[in-house]
Amino acid sequence: MSAPSKPLRQPGLIVYLCGLGTSALALWLVQMANDNGENIMGWYANGILPVGAFLVGIASGVGYAVGSRVLQVKLSKAFVFGMLTTAVVDYFAAHYLTYLSLLEVHHIPAERYGFIDYFREISEGMSFKGKSSGEAGSPLGMWGYVYKLLEIGGYAGGAMVPSAMVFGMPYCKGCQQYLKGHRTGHLHSPEQWPVVKKLKKKERLAALQAAIKELIARANEFTTPIAAAPLAETEAAIATLDQTIHKDAAARITYTLKKCPSCDAHHLDLNLFNYTEDKKVSNSNVAKIDKTKVAEAMADAAAA
Ligand SMILES: [Zn+2]
Repeated sequence: MSAPSKPLRQPGLIVYLCGLGTSALALWLVQMANDNGENIMGWYANGILPVGAFLVGIASGVGYAVGSRVLQVKLSKAFVFGMLTTAVVDYFAAHYLTYLSLLEVHHIPAERYGFIDYFREISEGMSFKGKSSGEAGSPLGMWGYVYKLLEIGGYAGGAMVPSAMVFGMPYCKGCQQYLKGHRTGHLHSPEQWPVVKKLKKKERLAALQAAIKELIARANEFTTPIAAAPLAETEAAIATLDQTIHKDAAARITYTLKKCPSCDAHHLDLNLFNYTEDKKVSNSNVAKIDKTKVAEAMADAAAA
């Protein structure tokens, strides 16, 4: 059906423009806050983690992620790298705009106060407000550059977060579409949480470990025959699992079958949910079985 050698659609200018749009918006909001005396980029946790810049970065990066998901475009590694570079450029562009507005407000000719002078001043002159007094502390001097670097890193790193989430979503290259949720099924441990919960902590831990071990063994047994099976067979197998969640089970593995909207390419995700000895709920991924390549190979074989 789909030609095997169909070239991958490029991330596209639109996705890129979406990213630039949210970046401009985020940096504009930072500027607005700055004008009102709140330096979001200067928020640090534990005096060293550039939380503010990271958050602004996340907001900036939303456009790339939403654009690629909505337009069904798979982000390439080259695109992600380009996005990082753009984030660094955006960071300096935002500072450059601040610099220009400073010149305008104070009627300073650009020859007398260059952008380098401005950047030196905001870096070396940077200071932290005293915790109790709220007054500016002493300027950081050369250390200011380290903090500016942390800010840039935090901003660029944050900008990648939304795309990284989309990057990990299963995708059908043949049809150039993201897979959609299709079917779920659950394997439950026979051990019941209300019973296990009453045990002493040490025994509870042992009981949970045994339950999880047995559950994973059963999951392996169940998954092996369908790991490379075609869609219909995989679907039929998932249909034999519990279709509803038993909340009282001490542990369960949920199978999520995602399918390409246009072809049989599919993906299986196995997630373990279990209670812990501290009576909390824990969730971890046990396996991801990407069968989109199997479908591609079969389509190729059929075409040949
Ligand atoms: Zn497909």
